[in-house]
Amino acid sequence: MSHDRVLVVEDEPTIAEALEYSLESEGFSVRLAGTGGDGLAEISHREPDFVILDIGLPDMSGFDVCREIRKTSTVPVLFLTARENEIDRVVGLEIGADDYVVKPFSPRELVARVRAILRRSRNAIQTEQAGGGTVEFGDLKVDNERMQARCGEKQLNLSRYELGLLKVFLEHPGRVYTRDQLMEQVWDEPEASLDRTVDAHIKSLRAKLREANPDLDAIVTHRGIGYSLREDL
Ligand code: CA
Repeated sequence: MSHDRVLVVEDEPTIAEALEYSLESEGFSVRLAGTGGDGLAEISHREPDFVILDIGLPDMSGFDVCREIRKTSTVPVLFLTARENEIDRVVGLEIGADDYVVKPFSPRELVARVRAILRRSRNAIQTEQAGGGTVEFGDLKVDNERMQARCGEKQLNLSRYELGLLKVFLEHPGRVYTRDQLMEQVWDEPEASLDRTVDAHIKSLRAKLREANPDLDAIVTHRGIGYSLREDL
């Protein structure tokens, strides 16, 4: 049983209570907040292990709540959205959310999603702490100090940008990055570069990974959004 603390920020009582019930029956301890203000107060009082955040709240948007959270915390955030359209997704992911679920959803599926995100963020943290300058996931490994990457036993001969992209992906497997976010994290002068620069380097990185292991299809394209590392490597 998990005793992780989940904060649910949701103004519709039926949804909030259904989530509370499903999470508690899986061993999570749950707090409910009906407004963004109450949610933020709850977080500053005691930081939860996970936040489920509705986008349409009465006092402020879930996006603003998430931006506030990200000023002080890296707690995983999962958005609940009522509108399935690209803009919600992109905006949600650009402000540092880990995932999103479109209403109506099955509470049981959502609980499984919470578990998966918690597992993946813990793995990434442990790897970072254990490895010092290295990050790894599955067979892939980047050594920051030596500026080297490996796929299993094979050394990958990556350019500096390819190495930077792989490192970002390995730090958060499954997290979807927009081109702008990748540009910000990997390039020295992001404003001078173009979106298709990222695409070109992703393409060459993919080719090199495929060369090292033809069965490994590590990078996922999210049409109209960006890229992520496959979670089941
Ligand atoms: Ca709402």
